[in-house]
Amino acid sequence: MNKLYQTDAIILRRKNIGEADRIFDVYTPNLGRLRLKAKGVRRIKSKLAGHLEMMAVIELGIATGRQLDVITSARNKKIFADLSANLQKTSLAFFICELVFYLTEEGHRDTRLYRLLEFSFSILNDSPAGERRYSRLFLDNVELQMLSLLGFRPEVAKCARCGQALSLLKNKFSSAQGGIICEKCTVPGAIPVTPEVIKLFRLLLDRQIRPGQWANLPQAAVTTLHRVLRDFIAYTLERQMKTERFLELVERQEKIV
Ligand SMILES: [Zn+2]
Repeated sequence: MNKLYQTDAIILRRKNIGEADRIFDVYTPNLGRLRLKAKGVRRIKSKLAGHLEMMAVIELGIATGRQLDVITSARNKKIFADLSANLQKTSLAFFICELVFYLTEEGHRDTRLYRLLEFSFSILNDSPAGERRYSRLFLDNVELQMLSLLGFRPEVAKCARCGQALSLLKNKFSSAQGGIICEKCTVPGAIPVTPEVIKLFRLLLDRQIRPGQWANLPQAAVTTLHRVLRDFIAYTLERQMKTERFLELVERQEKIV
């Protein structure tokens, strides 16, 4: 017999199948990433259709199925209205969903990641992140938090190569070494970073920055950090996850921000 269960969820992506059905990849607080089927949801009279919004927290009723579990009821619990009203915010929110999709697999379970996803939506919804000068900073912050949660945190507290405390000047960032390196350990291709960049790295890794603080961050450091982070993500994920599609996604981000 089919078992029934309930969960909150955020939709990461959806795909049409058959004549009127749809497959949803969602992330949930306690069950992690799930793949679910909604039957007849593309029919005009479907009761479910209006309640399976992207960029919202949805309460789902689900029945276990032979291949995929099936959505039997849905209710929009929290809608982030500005995410669908503002086109720049919409693309940033979609990007974050894709990021979670590519960084995880079905069955991946991490309550902190769900919270980060929901909190990112909430910050994005209530903030001026739709403005281009902030969108890059916002995404870098979300990316660093996700990388950190998923075990790809760059070393920014001490030299990533020799482990010594960092002096104030002449440090560089090396993606191959996995973080900041001191003057003695310098390697080809490493990018020079000022103390402001290192400070910003630590700040963005530690927590999600409130929009009120964005304007006060040093612009030159924000620009350098963005360049360093692109390089780090490309290097780390290409080697460790071998996901070319993720790199395509990173390139697409350059078009968004
Ligand atoms: Zn060193």
